[in-house]
Amino acid sequence: MSQTDFSTLALHPDLLKNLETLGYSSMTPIQAQSLPLILDGKDVIAQGKTGSGKTAAFGLGLLNALEVKRFRIQTLVLCPTRELADQVAKEIRKLARSIHNIKVLTLCGGMPFGPQIGSLEHGAHIVVGTPGRIEEHLRKGTLRLDNVKNLILDEADRMLEMGFQSAIDAIIELAPKQRQTLLFSATFPEQIESIANNIMHQPVRVEVASTH
Ligand code: ADP
Ligand code: MG
Repeated sequence: MSQTDFSTLALHPDLLKNLETLGYSSMTPIQAQSLPLILDGKDVIAQGKTGSGKTAAFGLGLLNALEVKRFRIQTLVLCPTRELADQVAKEIRKLARSIHNIKVLTLCGGMPFGPQIGSLEHGAHIVVGTPGRIEEHLRKGTLRLDNVKNLILDEADRMLEMGFQSAIDAIIELAPKQRQTLLFSATFPEQIESIANNIMHQPVRVEVASTH
């Protein structure tokens, strides 16, 4: 068994079986570095270029921690754009295929509020969305984060470039203090360092160097 086999991890057997079905035979470098820490409950800052498999790194972490029978929003994933949020939700649903009845909801700007509010009333385990729209739902009281255990900032550098800092701050303010926070980014500008210091608890930083 190689060090990069998913089976070296303390992952739920249903998740391991599904990875096999999906043809994910071994961990990518960023997964091999971050997943043991994520599964250990640590706050992690992971830096790696596009296509390095960051979604499955946090996706497997959050799915492994999910209490499926507890139909509450336990995970919030923030993404810069609707397109990226849709991609992340799709990958999470794919990774969750072997676990029955996991509800992943996307909440993005540029979409009408009505159906989103209806979906929120029905409930979800995981919400993936853009910071502006998530903040709006929190303000309206149509979304609450009381049961969130995992908060993920995906493509944090792009979210900051797009001016989402204040929305992110407002969201963090309303998230439970006791949580795991994971931050993924392709680059690591100073602004990320200060966000990380403010919102993360003793984060461990992993970095996979670009080969280019
Ligand atoms: P990133 O977020 O780092 O840009 P993605 O999470 O979108 O990268 O992953 C890129 C692609 O690699 C996706 O199509 C995903 O399904 C695939 N992938 C991720 N992890 C693995 C793996 N361990 N084995 C095979 N394919 C993988
Ligand atoms: Mg990504």
